[in-house]
Amino acid sequence: MIKKNKKFETEAIRTQLERTQFLEHSTPMYLTSSFVFEDAEDMRASFAEEKERNIYSRYSNPNSSEFIEKVCKMERAEAGFAFASGMAAVFSTFAALLESGDHIISAKSIFGSTHTLFTQFFPKWNIKTSYFDSNALEEIENLITAKTKVIYAESPTNPGVDILDLEVLGKIAGKNGLILIIDNCFASPYLQQPIKFGADLVIHSGTKLMDGQGRVLAGITVGNTELIDKIYRFSRITGPALSPFNAWVLSKSLETLALRVDRHCSNALQLAEFLEEHPKVAWVKYPFLKSHPKYEIAKKQMKAGGCVVAFEVDGGLEAGKKFFDSIKLLSLSANLGDSRSIVTHPASTTHSKLNAQERESVGISDGMVRVSVGLEHIDDIIEDIEQALG
Ligand SMILES: *Cc1c(COP(=O)(O)O)cnc(C)c1O
Repeated sequence: MIKKNKKFETEAIRTQLERTQFLEHSTPMYLTSSFVFEDAEDMRASFAEEKERNIYSRYSNPNSSEFIEKVCKMERAEAGFAFASGMAAVFSTFAALLESGDHIISAKSIFGSTHTLFTQFFPKWNIKTSYFDSNALEEIENLITAKTKVIYAESPTNPGVDILDLEVLGKIAGKNGLILIIDNCFASPYLQQPIKFGADLVIHSGTKLMDGQGRVLAGITVGNTELIDKIYRFSRITGPALSPFNAWVLSKSLETLALRVDRHCSNALQLAEFLEEHPKVAWVKYPFLKSHPKYEIAKKQMKAGGCVVAFEVDGGLEAGKKFFDSIKLLSLSANLGDSRSIVTHPASTTHSKLNAQERESVGISDGMVRVSVGLEHIDDIIEDIEQALG
């Protein structure tokens, strides 16, 4: 059961394991693969699950438990399980819940590896996926069949920064008895809590804003107790668990999540406003710009606009590449939500395997640039982008 929560920032700092006999202030690291038993009866009762206790770190570990409890409070979720990466969370969540023959309805604009999982691997186990346009939620109900089990989406989307109305998704899932799973990694639990809008499960890649400093891979799924129990039973056997070391790093990182994300968002908004006025920029997309087509929905479901700004350099692919080659301070890298600002060119990198038409259908044009706005001083971020545009 969820206790009455304190404010977000307070829970992020004060959710902590019980102190040991050493009365440490900061949570210690429990780098141990297994745990000991008092006697034969203790061991029997533990394995029989008559006691809630740690047995083996593939099942649970104190550091992972602290991280999970913290994210549950942040997302207003009942329970969770932590994974070695965001993709381990995505895969294990579906693998635990779906049977051969089941059907997924997914937004078209989803993380590339998730898309590959749905199209190239799930068909091996006779799990099919149909896609709806992220800007046409009315398509969803037409895709539902007797075999449909899950609706899956991300908002904001990557890299197009589209916004999906979570309340509408929640209603469709509720009305049709489907499980709504939201990948909330782009927003972080600080900006948006999908469970409030009817999501049953929320997935995060902890690698992004949660760590926020580009150090560790992690993933987590939180939500409804019954569903999480199935995910836990699958995962304790198949072994995708988060390492206690990474769990410790993440739990520390979450202490500063609100502070960091506030600055990411204010920097991103200032950059978006700068780009909107720039003559060499064809368009800019950022959820909290009034010009964003879903500005009102973004305001309804998010506290601020997030760390990612997308824009189009005038002149298409060549201009996009030239812009990249001219960047001096910012990183050309594949991560996001890092303290370091990162620029990517989806058409020539992450989405180069799609043809131009497929790219267009997920909102990626040839000159499109995605910036994950970091925590450097905004003047320096703008200066680098301005000189590269020049
Ligand atoms: C990065 C990312 C993932 C995958 O997470 P990893 O930790 O890299 O495995 C899943 N979904 C979204 C939206 C992401 O950005």
